[in-house]
Amino acid sequence: MITFTCDVCKKKLDNPDVDRLFYYANHSICEPCKDNFELNVKSQIRAKEPYTTDWYEQFIGDSLDKAVQKGKI
Ligand SMILES: [Zn+2]
Repeated sequence: MITFTCDVCKKKLDNPDVDRLFYYANHSICEPCKDNFELNVKSQIRAKEPYTTDWYEQFIGDSLDKAVQKGKI
């Protein structure tokens, strides 16, 4: 049996549907948190000029680290 724990909301899921789990920047996050996270960062990503893949990866990693520390997105 696999138990998945979301790094942000700490919700535990037993035998989760693996297609609904997300791994970003070394963090495991559940689907609702992923949706909230994407909503949250979308406008900042769109507004970024100039946009680079390096910046994106750094930004996603930093934003997720902050969310994990706060325990919410
Ligand atoms: Zn979660």
